[in-house]
Amino acid sequence: MADNRVVQGRMVTPNKLAELIEGDDVMDAEPISDADRTCPDCGGDVLEVGYMPSAMEFVTGWKCQECDWSETDRD
Ligand SMILES: [Zn+2]
Repeated sequence: MADNRVVQGRMVTPNKLAELIEGDDVMDAEPISDADRTCPDCGGDVLEVGYMPSAMEFVTGWKCQECDWSETDRD
């Protein structure tokens, strides 16, 4: 449970954070870390999570803790 973080006022697990970024279910996710960047929309803190949307794919995603902004390294 120590991996859970607050995003937009809600506690999320690594899997839940990955699903918010992906907009779909994910197979697996790594622990959440703090990204060394700020949100381009609101200047808030950005979280980073690596996850597997499918068995053959690994994606790094970023999500703002304060607003809807997110992106992935496949963008
Ligand atoms: Zn933001």
